[in-house]
Amino acid sequence: MGRVAVITGAGSGMGLAIGQRLAGAGYRVALLDRDGPSAARAGEEIRSSGGTALAATVDVSDRSQVDEAMDKVRSEFGPIQILVTSAGIDRFVKFTEISVDDWDQMIAVNLTGTFHCIQSAVPDMLAAKWGRIVTISSSSAQSGAARMSHYVASKGGVMGLTKALALELGPKGITVNTIPPGSIVTPMMERAKERGDLPDLEQIAARTPVRRTGTAEDIAYAAAFLCSDEAGYITGQAINVNGGWYL
Ligand code: NAP
Repeated sequence: MGRVAVITGAGSGMGLAIGQRLAGAGYRVALLDRDGPSAARAGEEIRSSGGTALAATVDVSDRSQVDEAMDKVRSEFGPIQILVTSAGIDRFVKFTEISVDDWDQMIAVNLTGTFHCIQSAVPDMLAAKWGRIVTISSSSAQSGAARMSHYVASKGGVMGLTKALALELGPKGITVNTIPPGSIVTPMMERAKERGDLPDLEQIAARTPVRRTGTAEDIAYAAAFLCSDEAGYITGQAINVNGGWYL
């Protein structure tokens, strides 16, 4: 039987593509998202093409919901071996206009949500002395991004958490890496473009060395590699999937 992989934010964008790719490679995937119907649809599609998937409605900023979902995965599939954290939110707000509530929500979902998921899943990996954790951060945490200081701070936190855990968990057989994506066409990016928060895709592509925007599949390929046995000597790394942006 395939290894058990939990993917958060798996109802849309990169998380969805990662879930599909891992399922296609024979993993048993658990698709967690606060958008339950989207996660459920993704699970049905995977099952109808012969894969093994379950879906759960989870707000990653709520520890009890995260713990409950991880327990559901354990009871249906067994111990969790792989975790990919893609659930996240973006906002574009001038620094002086970020409210304390905006700040708290950003940190709660992007950073504390990542913490909750890792801390809830990792005991299984520790017991098995094997595990793979891949966090999805952002190239904006490497370059900075105007009107996104709370987002960038949350993603910088994810990168730091990843590096710290790589040192702590490496001796236990668990690798921890982050993918900081560049400009990837997903529903999140489409919404930002529609609001006028991002330029047209053509403009973004023209400024990108490989002259295109990224796809969710670009991220899924990299994530699937980091989840494999073959990636066992890679840990604590930021694997930049950004079309060659100089950071
Ligand atoms: P997406 O299409 O919006 O997918 C993100 C998914 O996460 C959505 O289904 C979303 O649900 C879900 N989610 C949001 N908050 C959640 C919560 N509290 N608990 C559980 N699920 C939650 O976005 P994406 O572009 O694939 O983004 C995936 C990750 O990559 C995010 O962490 C994002 O910050 C990061 N990223 C994206 C880009 C880019 O260019 N797209 C670049 C760098 C980094 P809702 O639809 O209900 O919000």
